[in-house]
Amino acid sequence: MASPMFPLVEDVIGRILTFCPDFATLHAVVLASKQFHAVYQTHPKSITQAVAYNIVGPALPAALRVLRYPSRDINEDSSDPLTVTSVCVEESSASIITWDEKMQLVKNAEEIAVLEDIYSIKFKSRHSRTSVLTPEESHRFQRAAYRAELFSAIFPADTWSVDDIDELDSVAISNIQEQRAALLNVYDTRELLELFSFVRFMRAILKGIVAAERHIDILLTAGPTRILEAWEDDIGWDSSNADTPNRLFDGYYARAFAKHKDILNPPTEDDGGSAARWLLSDVPEVNDTCSHCLTRGGLELLTEANWHLHPISQRSLGRLKSRLTNNSTLFDPVNKAVAVAGTTAVRLVDVDFTPRGPSLFIFWGGWISAVFDFAQTAGQSEFASWTKDQSYCVPCLGRFLDENVWRWLLAERVKEGWVPPEDCWYGYNCRTQVHKYTHATTKNHLAVPTRGDE
Ligand SMILES: [Zn+2]
Ligand SMILES: [Zn+2]
Repeated sequence: MASPMFPLVEDVIGRILTFCPDFATLHAVVLASKQFHAVYQTHPKSITQAVAYNIVGPALPAALRVLRYPSRDINEDSSDPLTVTSVCVEESSASIITWDEKMQLVKNAEEIAVLEDIYSIKFKSRHSRTSVLTPEESHRFQRAAYRAELFSAIFPADTWSVDDIDELDSVAISNIQEQRAALLNVYDTRELLELFSFVRFMRAILKGIVAAERHIDILLTAGPTRILEAWEDDIGWDSSNADTPNRLFDGYYARAFAKHKDILNPPTEDDGGSAARWLLSDVPEVNDTCSHCLTRGGLELLTEANWHLHPISQRSLGRLKSRLTNNSTLFDPVNKAVAVAGTTAVRLVDVDFTPRGPSLFIFWGGWISAVFDFAQTAGQSEFASWTKDQSYCVPCLGRFLDENVWRWLLAERVKEGWVPPEDCWYGYNCRTQVHKYTHATTKNHLAVPTRGDE
């Protein structure tokens, strides 16, 4: 006879439910057992809150405020500036989390985790494509990210037409600027500096996309998750209206921060690295040197984890030696070899990224790894000790590529079945390969010159 199961006491079941890693698991567990279902029904708020915490982490109150803030109900040009600070404040106590909120919490958490990965590789460690921020640093980063998302949700740019802005008088403009400053009022100095540091990070991303300061201010209004889209893809930015002064959005964050005396002397605009000290406790790699020439490069040094972020990774053709760069018959072969190597790298990277959401790190840089793999086996003594896990300054990585990309291309073409014609005497230095198609195709120029210059 089967022995009766011990009835689990209610608080043990409740405790088990709070360990569910996500809402789908919680849902499945609750549906699978009447007993679990009954316990869940008794404590729905606290159990759901605990699972939300497992997904979002300690920034949960800030994450919920983003979803719940009734931004559409605040009339920007007429309400009391202080209203924005008191509406729907960050709450730590448990509350009912709706189905829509759960979906949005998960989506935002995934996107902010990706932003944290980018932040980590740029400001914390160049050796990892997933965040290596400590739990405290991660909390500060994520809380600041949600607060920036809230700022953008309350003060968006896309609800304003140019004509609407023209109609605003100076009192209305100043009222909105007061509201923006007031929204920051509730944070203590330390938290304000963390947000300030996060805004610097958003600016650093945007500076790679648009040059003009005024454009950056407008794009900042899009908020962190949409700025992430800009990083991953093209933002489709129409700058036609952005060159004229915009009274409503110039100094979007700067004016709000300027009202807080503790941030009167912030680090300079371009100093994303030093602003990072408000979010990070420690940056151990900041004094690292190039593995080959000992130049100090810190987080700017290139290694396999981060060289896809550098423009050097996008110039495969430009890294061919000497006049090969202008040999048009090599364009297709080099693009094909780079694409094959890049695609292989994407597959590998995707496997690594599965736990943290979608991969950003596609295509670019994969071919550099392939050139390193080739150089390791090609037996060129000068580069035998150069491995992709070492750190390189830009000149050293450039020198490595200049000496190895053309050899790698030759090997890739031969692997694909290409039978090289006779070597041209002048090899990669040949001038004729640049302007004479027949010569370029009937002689092999992926070769060391055996005679001097033509
Ligand atoms: Zn170097
Ligand atoms: Zn030639």
